[in-house]
Amino acid sequence: MLAIVLVCLFVACNSDAKEGSAAQRGSSVAATSAGRTSTGFSGTAAYDYAKTQVAFGPRVPGTPAAKQAGDWIIREMRARADTVIVQSFTHTTADGKRLPLRNILARFRPEQTERVLYVTHWDSRPISDSPTSTEAEKKMPVPGANDGASGVGLFVALGDVLKKTKPNVGVDLLFTDGEDYGQFGPPEVDVLIGSKYFADHPPSPGYKPLYGVLWDMIGDKDLRIPYEMNSFQQAPEVVSRVWQTAADMGYGDIFVQESGGLVVDDHIPLLNSGMRVIDVIDLDYPPHHTPQDTMDKISAKSLATVGDVATALVTRK
Ligand SMILES: [Zn+2]
Repeated sequence: MLAIVLVCLFVACNSDAKEGSAAQRGSSVAATSAGRTSTGFSGTAAYDYAKTQVAFGPRVPGTPAAKQAGDWIIREMRARADTVIVQSFTHTTADGKRLPLRNILARFRPEQTERVLYVTHWDSRPISDSPTSTEAEKKMPVPGANDGASGVGLFVALGDVLKKTKPNVGVDLLFTDGEDYGQFGPPEVDVLIGSKYFADHPPSPGYKPLYGVLWDMIGDKDLRIPYEMNSFQQAPEVVSRVWQTAADMGYGDIFVQESGGLVVDDHIPLLNSGMRVIDVIDLDYPPHHTPQDTMDKISAKSLATVGDVATALVTRK
């Protein structure tokens, strides 16, 4: 993923918001333990899965690390889901490079017509082009602990729960590839590749989930998730559902009911294809797109909070 149309607005908005939330932070931490939550989701397990993912090395498309990490996700999900579909395809970049990519779709209760789609990207960025990076750092790939692995950890741990507790709807966990490869622009070049491919190649004709949620960069130790404004404008009922569920569970100071920025991310091609998919993202993350996006910046507790909400949405009546 990457920002943003209104960078200044977003930064200003977040620095203001940060001060307001500091006093409330303690209560949310008490609401969740990193271990097993009320829904049975384990933040500790999610953290460990993210760590395994990061240990393969940067998951840059076309590299051996990406091959190994993708194979690992497929194995883990085959052990948990009812069906796993792998979409393998080749993307030719603007400069003529041919990238092998894989979207991985893990399905629970595949016979159900009423379905919820969860999305996360599993690739990591080939360059650390944050404005805060040094020139030498800018040539390095992003380790992607939060940006790429946090969502993978979340999904594998969610698979642990859904294997034991049948969801009340069909659930599709989509791991997209090639989200973070190129330039976010505008114009966008060689980004959101897997999401665009999925929008053009749904798993069945007329595939239309009830709603969808993209979970991206949700492991930050200092987690605070305002509304992403493309989601708020284009699928407000899904935003309400997710933030209200979080509030009901006592996570109102993490899922804050405030405007965030407009983020260009994997939900956009899906929204454009008619699916009601929102982005849950904490973009206020200083190591974003730097070589410092490492495991010490994320926490089991943050993953537990988000995982508890993600699980409740599909398992509670
Ligand atoms: Zn990114």
